[in-house]
Amino acid sequence: MIFWRWAGVLLATSGLNLFATEIVWPTSLDRTTIHSPLDYLQATASGRPESGGFGMVREDGHRFHEGVDIRATARDKNGEPTDLIYSALDGQVAYLNKQANGGYGKYIVLFHPQAELPVYTLYAHLASIDPSLKVGDSINRSKVIGVMGHTSIGTEAIPRERAHLHFEIGVRLSDNFNTWYATEPEYRGVPNPHGLWHGQNLAGFNPQIVLTSSRINLLSGLQNEPTALAVTIRTDHAPDFVKRHPSLVSGDAKKAAGWYVEFTWEGVPKKWLALPPQSLQLPQGRWSYVGLNYQLKDVLVQHKMITPDTKKAGETLIRQVSILLAGI
Ligand SMILES: [Zn+2]
Repeated sequence: MIFWRWAGVLLATSGLNLFATEIVWPTSLDRTTIHSPLDYLQATASGRPESGGFGMVREDGHRFHEGVDIRATARDKNGEPTDLIYSALDGQVAYLNKQANGGYGKYIVLFHPQAELPVYTLYAHLASIDPSLKVGDSINRSKVIGVMGHTSIGTEAIPRERAHLHFEIGVRLSDNFNTWYATEPEYRGVPNPHGLWHGQNLAGFNPQIVLTSSRINLLSGLQNEPTALAVTIRTDHAPDFVKRHPSLVSGDAKKAAGWYVEFTWEGVPKKWLALPPQSLQLPQGRWSYVGLNYQLKDVLVQHKMITPDTKKAGETLIRQVSILLAGI
């Protein structure tokens, strides 16, 4: 008995890499044929392959693309793609948007609470969604969930020739998203049919880390992303993000009078440190942007995480923090 107890402790302390999530490629494309992202990316109308990738790849580096666009490999006689879409990880169905009523078109969100980090994956522009899927269903990775398409109601339609899967992975910012949405001038009078799975409540990180490996520790993957900037927050009530992501939190959350939070350049709050009431780091007001990683200055400015003079929070960072603090 004693031996096994010690063996368990050893495993728990030294075997972090034993814990990893199995990933499968989310389309019909044969993963073994991929040697570089150019083998699977679908370019925009610009024709530049990198425009289908993740990051500041749109509009000369001024518009953020929060996922990757994976091209079609097979088509029917009308030129429509026939590629199937698969769940990339074990998880559950979180949301099904069966109407093409926004930029994502018909889309599916899966939630993966059993991963080292509870993440969502999102599959957009689908031609169709498997009619047997219901919100709350548990599904295994590799399950067919839909068919690739080019559905989108937005500023620009996606032509059939550029049909693709828009694939995203990330974390949900707030369970109080609707409180933020209701007070946001940009959305006044516009209903939110997507609830908590609205794109603004989803903070995506680079899917490359899951597309380049069939097995990955998602928590380490996010923690290994460089810290781009930090903010401090004053609040007696912990944001629900903290409660839903305890693996990203350190310090005594019960006694916290605020938080020191590190963000990736994309806007994912990757590290939270509880600040006690006597902490000199607590901001004067509700929250404050307190510093940046100068190596990432250019992309932080492009993504509007900070102002061009680097002195103030930009509109993207203000939105992320406002959503995180919604309802508290
Ligand atoms: Zn896309």
